Amino acid sequence: MSNLRVRSAVSPLRRRVRDLAMVAPVAEALRTVDALVAEDRPEEPIHCIRPATLSATAATFVEAFPGDVLYAVKCNPDPSVLRALWAGGVRHFDCASPAEVGLVRTMFPDAGIHFMHPIKARGAIRDAWTRHGVRDFVFDSDAELAKILACTTPDGTTEDLGLVVRLALPKGGAVLDLSGKFGAEAEAAADLLRAARPHAARLGLAFHVGSQCLDPLAWRRALALVGEVVAMAGVPIEIVDVGGGFPVAYPDMEPVHLGAFMAEIEDGFDRLDLPNARLWAEPGRALVAGGGSVVVQVQARRGNMLYVNDGVYGSLADAGALGFRYPVRMIRPDAGPSDVKLCGFGFFGPTCDSADVMRGPFHLPEDIAEGDWIEIGQLGAYGACLRTGFNGFDRARIAEVTDQPLSTEVGDDRQYALAA
Ligand SMILES: *Cc1c(COP(=O)(O)O)cnc(C)c1O
Repeated sequence: MSNLRVRSAVSPLRRRVRDLAMVAPVAEALRTVDALVAEDRPEEPIHCIRPATLSATAATFVEAFPGDVLYAVKCNPDPSVLRALWAGGVRHFDCASPAEVGLVRTMFPDAGIHFMHPIKARGAIRDAWTRHGVRDFVFDSDAELAKILACTTPDGTTEDLGLVVRLALPKGGAVLDLSGKFGAEAEAAADLLRAARPHAARLGLAFHVGSQCLDPLAWRRALALVGEVVAMAGVPIEIVDVGGGFPVAYPDMEPVHLGAFMAEIEDGFDRLDLPNARLWAEPGRALVAGGGSVVVQVQARRGNMLYVNDGVYGSLADAGALGFRYPVRMIRPDAGPSDVKLCGFGFFGPTCDSADVMRGPFHLPEDIAEGDWIEIGQLGAYGACLRTGFNGFDRARIAEVTDQPLSTEVGDDRQYALAA
């Protein structure tokens, strides 16, 4: 391969991060996606990370949110992504596994790390507490509270322990519901707050409205429920964590401006009248979706279906069963700009599974053919991190690039979104 900057896309969470060299930035000048494709002619998918976009998006969110911003690491744990978010002002991380905790601590000795998975292994809690200085833990049951206390402060001191109760929400306006599995119902949550109060230096309530939640009122309703739970519990709390779920634009989904979400949160929080409480948010998708894309190659065309080298077992899982659509553009390095009419295509992924299909439609020039490349945008979130090794198609690489994000307007023949 011609350039060191293009490295293997094996998840950093699958490797043991032993030293900073593994996660260190590369010092060369970044290229554009087009230059990368023209030089490397990649026959494997390449994840293209846009550090400038990530930093700018993070800075905008941090500026707009009236509290602490915890990046949900599961969404994209790539070191270059984490570094760009840090550069944009993110200082807190929502981690859910020992691998995520270890990676963030290796990269950022001063970061605030918060263990926000309601069900944890005992060893994971102990390790986070003793080796990595994690002080905040989430739970949604008595059993998990007992586990956290036994693994952090068995002598009964509160030290600096932060305890956060995950509150269940009724199913709302999110594309992906996240309440099916975790969370205590209101009354149980109030009981848990009372049980945890004597052990907590900081006590809080957290919820998640579901991912890609298009309705700002979902936060208002959830915050009203927080108020009911606090009243029922009759104990003060210091943290109100409004979770993630902040939406981004996809070709068929244009959310209202981030400011509308912030306004509901600020207003809903003010109504709680908890002067000693601090707001937290755990955005994933909203911080990183625009900062990543994947470049795939067309290996065959049959009618309006394109056989490409990445699919639902790679970085395009959400384009499969969930039918997510992403902005796309063709890359044909030896030709000038194409003025060929766009038409809708579906993709078949590289594995032999018939379920490895993405219906789209994805709008591409109607003469697209074997050998052309396609850049698929808005894939910085829940893309590269979902890759599996199924059928041997786990090879992909990562490069940092200078491009703007792709435009999400359907049929837009401008390649890139105008900077916001
Ligand atoms: C996945 C997750 C997030 C991030 O959700 P987005 O929809 O990507 O913003 C935040 N908090 C928790 C607990 C999660 O599980």
